[in-house]
Amino acid sequence: MKKIGYIVIFFIFFIVIVVPGLIVKSCRPVSPEKPGGQTAPGAKQGQKVGTVALYINSLKRIENIPVEEYVKGVVAAEMPASFGMEAIKAQAVAARTYVYKRWVQAGGSGCSLHPGADVCDDPTHCQAWITKGEMLKKWGIFSYYHYYSKINQSVNSTAGMIILYGGEPIDPLFFSTSNGKTENSEDVWEKYVPYLRSVVSPGEETSPRFLEIKQIPVDEVVNKLRAKWPDLAIDVKNPERQWKVLQTSAGGRVKILQVGNKVVKGTEFRQLFDLNSTDFKWARAGGNIKFTCVGFGHGVGMSQYGANAMAKNGATFVDILKHYYTGVEIKKITP
Ligand SMILES: [Zn+2]
Repeated sequence: MKKIGYIVIFFIFFIVIVVPGLIVKSCRPVSPEKPGGQTAPGAKQGQKVGTVALYINSLKRIENIPVEEYVKGVVAAEMPASFGMEAIKAQAVAARTYVYKRWVQAGGSGCSLHPGADVCDDPTHCQAWITKGEMLKKWGIFSYYHYYSKINQSVNSTAGMIILYGGEPIDPLFFSTSNGKTENSEDVWEKYVPYLRSVVSPGEETSPRFLEIKQIPVDEVVNKLRAKWPDLAIDVKNPERQWKVLQTSAGGRVKILQVGNKVVKGTEFRQLFDLNSTDFKWARAGGNIKFTCVGFGHGVGMSQYGANAMAKNGATFVDILKHYYTGVEIKKITP
């Protein structure tokens, strides 16, 4: 019996201490290539063909990472790994397209914030990216193997594939959850982009952020409005009575609204009150204003939860990408 006890203790020690240690050890970002490797035209000295110069904000330095490895780190960071395989493949192709557009070796412009880098790992500037060690922390030891192998398979099976419009890589915008429709690019950022058109996006209700109810005290609402527009004339007791939606977007969200004596954009209003989306309604609830919001994110391009719903209904990653990006082609290219 004692012997079995030792074996069990050893086994637990192996699973809990040794295995994660081995994984974390093998999960450090790839070190910069040593001088003497094949240098790509336009790339920094010592950067190998096929590697992406990634600026990692936490390390404050650039690491050179093989492009497909980089894509795996983006997919792991940007999409829930529990999603359907075809949705994960769609995200992989979008992530790869994003880097191709900025990849100096492929004629791209690089990351505008970090000289010498193709991309950075700041999701508000380029794309989020995590190491295998961070994936282990995010998913835990019991889900790590399953999720990593899904991502690995989705990236390997789409290797080299990118999204093109008129022969050029697109800006593959995406967001979390729609209200049932996506947005025309010009309704959100004023710029017309032919492949970023409003399309239907059913099945979004499965998202935990499909519906948001947010209550904000009236005086806080007034203070925020006055801080943003100091010359705003508004009834401080009942500000919401002087709000009116003037224009709705093709995707059914608030495009333009009247706020007292001002005409403001739905996107400005969303940002001011930190609402989940521009599909919002308001009502008075005692001393608060109650906002009801549908969807999460800017609404332009691919909806991740919509993509997952399509995948569950049998769509392929090509179907998903062609649905959310109008008039595009998916092609395999060699760097
Ligand atoms: Zn960047």
